Amino acid sequence: MKHNDNCINEFDSSALDEVTALKKIIRTIKSIKKIENISIKDSYNRVLAENIKAKINIPSFNNSAMDGYAVNIKNLVKNNYVLKERSVSLAGKPFYGTLKNNETVRVMTGAVIPSNADAVVMKEMVNINKKKITFNKNIKKNQNIRFIGEDIKKNRVIFHKYSQLTHSKVAILASLGIEKVKVLKKPIISFFSTGDELTSIGKKLKKGQIYDSNRYLLRGLLEKFPVTIKDAGVVADDENKIINKFRKLSKESSLIITTGGVSVGDADYIRDALLKIGSINFWKISIKPGRPLAFGTIGSSYFFGLPGNPVSTSVTFDLFVRPAIYKILSLEKRTDITIDAILVGGLRKKKGRVEYKRGILFKNKGKYYVKASGLQGSNILSSLAIANCYIKLGMNIENIKESEIVTTIPFEVSHE
Ligand code: AMP
Ligand code: MG
Repeated sequence: MKHNDNCINEFDSSALDEVTALKKIIRTIKSIKKIENISIKDSYNRVLAENIKAKINIPSFNNSAMDGYAVNIKNLVKNNYVLKERSVSLAGKPFYGTLKNNETVRVMTGAVIPSNADAVVMKEMVNINKKKITFNKNIKKNQNIRFIGEDIKKNRVIFHKYSQLTHSKVAILASLGIEKVKVLKKPIISFFSTGDELTSIGKKLKKGQIYDSNRYLLRGLLEKFPVTIKDAGVVADDENKIINKFRKLSKESSLIITTGGVSVGDADYIRDALLKIGSINFWKISIKPGRPLAFGTIGSSYFFGLPGNPVSTSVTFDLFVRPAIYKILSLEKRTDITIDAILVGGLRKKKGRVEYKRGILFKNKGKYYVKASGLQGSNILSSLAIANCYIKLGMNIENIKESEIVTTIPFEVSHE
């Protein structure tokens, strides 16, 4: 079907769809391989460069899950549920012995249990009369015992190469007694903003100038990755200055990101600069916001030229830069978790582009609802700041009415 560009829809036959653009990006990018050996206390969020095999069982001995009494059920039956307290086993101060026929051992949580104990009875469930302990008859074999290896079995590979170390994984490394791990070296990711109107914070604004906010947006987005961030400031709308900056940054960076200057306005020089020193693809992508995007290479660095409007910067980062960083770091591709929600208030949309509106997702009486978080222009940072999701509207969708079901993509949903 052929669509004409007009004011009723936004179909553009020269625009690339986001899926194709992403495929091209992922196909181009090669993952980094450089490795370093670091202390686990520096390893949060880093990408493992080795398989981790458990050298011990966790737990490494059978122990009590409760404060209580370790028993052998056979003895209980024989002694009509009356036993004598023989000793105490504390966490770190074990009692090593076996239970004799009329005995129990008082045990604390985490303490070694006697080798022939097959249940622990909670302290609260027993009657104590001097050292004579009377038990409830309702005792099941293995109750309240934590068994050797039930969490992690010795010799099993527990974490695979190229998985990311979360705080709970680092805690497991510690519980296995591992001090150092091999991880991928942090790649350097540099960025700069372009635009004659941009002023850095700390300086006074002149008429027509604005403060550069994109570098602060990008820093925050990048901080969640195990990368070294290099803020290369603001560069004027000047081809030579942009070329010089690219030359310098490409010596050390795995990835260079710019914002602004990437459309076809009079002051858009990213394209010209790149044509001279790199290889570059310019794409119009059929999404809103964020239609213009440049992707390519400068020397051994990959390059993204994102649009300057802050909301477009954020959306194109999420759609294209984030998966690219995943590929650089050999991490599993992220699959977005989507939630279908009932729309509160209507939404305006033309056919022809996929739109990522900013929304507030909430639950009421067991159902998910979503509403727009404010004005939806690509310059409106305040509606991005209070949003907790994107509302993703397909290419062929038009204006949406109150109560229709829409797809939302929550921000910050963790994944493995
Ligand atoms: P451009 O992509 O250069 O045409 O810029 C599009 C819009 O985004 C213009 O209104 C710019 O002033 C604005 N803009 C570009 N870069 C930034 C930035 N770093 N911080 C805030 N706004 C920006
Ligand atoms: Mg500009």
